[in-house]
Amino acid sequence: MVVAHSLGFPRIGANRELKKAVESYWQKAISKDDLVQEGKRLRRLHWELQAKAGMDLLPVNDFSFYDHVLDMSALLGVVPSRFGAVNGQVDLDTYFRMGRGRAPTGADTTACEMTKWFDTNYHYMVPEFAENQAFALKSNKLFDEVDEAVALGYQAKPVVLGPLSYLYLGKAIGDFDKLKLLPGLVRAYGEILQRLAQKGIAWVQIDEPILVMDLPQSYKDGFASAYATLAGPASPKLLLTTYFGGVGDNLELVCKLPVQGLHVDGVRGKNELVQVAEHLPRDKVLSVGMVDGRNIWRCELEPAFSALAPLHARFGDNLWVSSSCSLLHSPVDLANEKNMDREIKPWLSFAAQKVLEIATLKKGLSLGAGAIAHELEESMRLMEAKASSPRIHNAEVKKRLSQVTDNSARRANAFAERRGRQHEKLRLPMFPTTTIGSFPQTKEIRQLRADLKSNKITQDTYEQQIRGQIALAVKKQEELGLDVLVHGEAERNDMVEYFGEQLNGFMFTQNGWVQSYGSRCVKPPVIYGDVSRPQAMTTEWSAYAQSLTQRPMKGMLTGPVTILCWSFVRDDQPRMETARQIALALRDEVVDLEKAGISVIQIDEPAFREGLPLRRAAWDDYLKDATHSFRLASCGVRDETQIHTHMCYAEFNDIIGSIADLDADVITMETSRSNMELLKAFETFAYPNEIGPGVYDIHSPRIPSSDEMVLLMQKAAERIAPDYLWVNPDCGLKTRGWPEVERALNNMVTAAKTLRQKYA
Ligand code: GLN
Ligand code: ZN
Repeated sequence: MVVAHSLGFPRIGANRELKKAVESYWQKAISKDDLVQEGKRLRRLHWELQAKAGMDLLPVNDFSFYDHVLDMSALLGVVPSRFGAVNGQVDLDTYFRMGRGRAPTGADTTACEMTKWFDTNYHYMVPEFAENQAFALKSNKLFDEVDEAVALGYQAKPVVLGPLSYLYLGKAIGDFDKLKLLPGLVRAYGEILQRLAQKGIAWVQIDEPILVMDLPQSYKDGFASAYATLAGPASPKLLLTTYFGGVGDNLELVCKLPVQGLHVDGVRGKNELVQVAEHLPRDKVLSVGMVDGRNIWRCELEPAFSALAPLHARFGDNLWVSSSCSLLHSPVDLANEKNMDREIKPWLSFAAQKVLEIATLKKGLSLGAGAIAHELEESMRLMEAKASSPRIHNAEVKKRLSQVTDNSARRANAFAERRGRQHEKLRLPMFPTTTIGSFPQTKEIRQLRADLKSNKITQDTYEQQIRGQIALAVKKQEELGLDVLVHGEAERNDMVEYFGEQLNGFMFTQNGWVQSYGSRCVKPPVIYGDVSRPQAMTTEWSAYAQSLTQRPMKGMLTGPVTILCWSFVRDDQPRMETARQIALALRDEVVDLEKAGISVIQIDEPAFREGLPLRRAAWDDYLKDATHSFRLASCGVRDETQIHTHMCYAEFNDIIGSIADLDADVITMETSRSNMELLKAFETFAYPNEIGPGVYDIHSPRIPSSDEMVLLMQKAAERIAPDYLWVNPDCGLKTRGWPEVERALNNMVTAAKTLRQKYA
């Protein structure tokens, strides 16, 4: 029989029970034992659900109280010394301190660094390796959970992050090559596998997602040596799992590794399935992830089945069916969406539905297409309905997109000329000061939104109150002496949601939460159809704010690439086509803002870099399309209207050319945390436009002195001409409180004054 399995199930619970339990524990509202029991309950629930759906092997250790990479560090005893020596096991509070710096017991300690998990919106805790790093098993979590699943009578398939990916994702503390640590690491993995074998485990899922990336030769060699050691007779069988893309040039390598099975991503790696099947010896298991683990669309069963059928002919019972990657990246259960649009709901599938789709594909392969005739037919009927639905297709949007010319994505004149006009119009001092958009989202503001939602206050009252908040922000900025003001974004819950709620083609779920990091979950909007803007979205607020001051008021929009990256995006057309549709809607907003008397408009693109594909070869296409979208959104204005963009912490060096191609008149970016290191790229690349390198780290409650900010700006001025520099914080201030913000901005304005004198 074909085997059905998922690579992992969301751990948060259909109602974010895990988040609630973990946070209650942190607040000491529940005991450690309560938390442990809740974890147990959720695991059991998720196994039960998968088993009922027809999964043959159940993932174990996909559960985590914080992060699965952090779990791996605990298991391997990779605990930085600042968390104290580990005697015996890594206890839960040490674990939480590594994740977030704090726990109910023990002293606060600087948390481990957190970064994006490949190209998803999940974030993992970066392992830290000392030069003499020892590896020793220091956590029983994996083994206890295996016992738990086995005791419940399930076929447990433990999931571990493989040694090469674990090493690759970590960072060396000190100047040494991490790969030196591989032999010791592999010994520890050997022990893990042995212990699992002793428990009677037949298959272990060993995740090596780095196999879908461009790997240095040293890592390729590392794979060969590590797996030669691990795949010994004392080990359970190994299913080497790759996901988030095709294996590409690593195909030869993965097919040669002495493992008993290989999992490939059948969604993103669709085009290489035939090749994989040809290269992989037939006595090995080929697991194919045909059900998209990263999106919310119902699987198109017919094409999926057709792709699997020839593989089944070749591999027989050695063919397994699965999700493309762990279902961690999809929401839990569509059944929880009670108010969803009835036409759209059947087009969707969350984790609980995805395992049913996997089971259906298995059934078809095992018993023949006839056995799933009904499911195939229903899927086809839905696909057809969707393909022709007026909810999705808007002829006007498509027509407009087809008429876009190169000129639509180009300002009328070059920057040098625009700059003169803008300076004449805005009359700003040297080193102009500004902020990135949001001001503190106070309790009061959040209460207003909650009251509006629950109908406690009317729309009118709400708007009046928000206007009051805007007036307050304007007054404070004038008192502080800032040059280019913002309205403060009091009316926005979230920078993507706010626009998604006003655009056609977007939908919001009630419960479509996915884990972002630790206990933090996000509910991304769903872009299901052609995007258009029924009416202006921000002009009233901005015009109101402008009416309160003589100083320039900056309009504030979220860019097309960021909206795309932080949503669930339709998969029936290229992603970048959707980005262009969003861009056109934003373009109209930009023009409307200009008409409303706004002469500085910022289009935020904090996700610009994180959208980069995992493979370098795909970068150019992405950057070309992403840049085009931004320009489409921004280029509809006159020369004298100043376009700003903003980007957060990112390695700019390798994409600096594309950032310049955006042709924004001003870019503000996060640089203070790296002590202006991020401006290194500007040494060799003559960035043509104006720049505001952040001088105030808004992630920290610390208030930098004006001297400190002057020093940072002087550093920046070594690389960028002083009359091209702006003075601003790293990012928006919505998570901070007013008193600290006022003090910090006051220092910032003082710093700008000092700089003006120094560079006059
Ligand atoms: N304008 C947004 C704000 O200030 C930008 C947020 C971001 O870059 N993530 O909140
Ligand atoms: Zn930012």
